[in-house]
Amino acid sequence: MVSKRHHYNGGSVLLIEDEEQLAASIGSYLESRGHSVDYAHDGLTGARLAEANEYDVVVTDGILPGIDGVEVIRRIRAGERKQTPVLMLTGRTDLEDKITALEAGADDYLCKPFDLRELDARIRSLLRRDRREVAQTPLTVGDLQFDPGTLEVRRAGKLIDLSPISLRLLAILLRESPRVVTRAQLERHVWGDSLPDSDTLRSHLYILRNAIDKPFDRPLLHTIPSMGYRISATDTSTDAPKSNATLE
Ligand code: CA
Repeated sequence: MVSKRHHYNGGSVLLIEDEEQLAASIGSYLESRGHSVDYAHDGLTGARLAEANEYDVVVTDGILPGIDGVEVIRRIRAGERKQTPVLMLTGRTDLEDKITALEAGADDYLCKPFDLRELDARIRSLLRRDRREVAQTPLTVGDLQFDPGTLEVRRAGKLIDLSPISLRLLAILLRESPRVVTRAQLERHVWGDSLPDSDTLRSHLYILRNAIDKPFDRPLLHTIPSMGYRISATDTSTDAPKSNATLE
């Protein structure tokens, strides 16, 4: 007999949320989607659990009793399991708040109120262990190098620490370099069919740019207004693609 069990493969999720009813409804939905869920109702407990156990993804509310979500993320990033992907739930929609969450080390964020299906999709996007993109040989543009085998990013020999989403954005931009990748292509590549709001990609690219370009004197990541983004070692003044150049 063929087993009829046909669960999605989920991950182990730590949910840090102080509103117990909300935590219960989020948790039971995630369990119905094949995830296993641990709960913490305050920041300190959450940070301790995240340090004690290996979770595939930590989902933390921003506003929590004790220590807040940003502090939870800082502690995770300073601890033994600093690679754990973290998704932060934020109550506000300001771009600045989102960037604060990402700068604190969140891999992604979701604004309340949200659709539970979207939360599941975002968690899955962080779960994808197989981040080895098609090419296994290192991708290099200028002095920037990404090794899809080890997931190491270096610029001018200096190791750069990137979140899973930044890595995925960087991988597609490097693979397509020096071509322009549209916003829609980037969003689909990272989030699949569950497209985030328009600020999300912008915030992640801001973080990526800070990591790979800001400490260096020459920018490699270029914004092409109303088209998208490209990574190229050539000067930005020639960024606008010429219509005949794409035909070559
Ligand atoms: Ca809260």
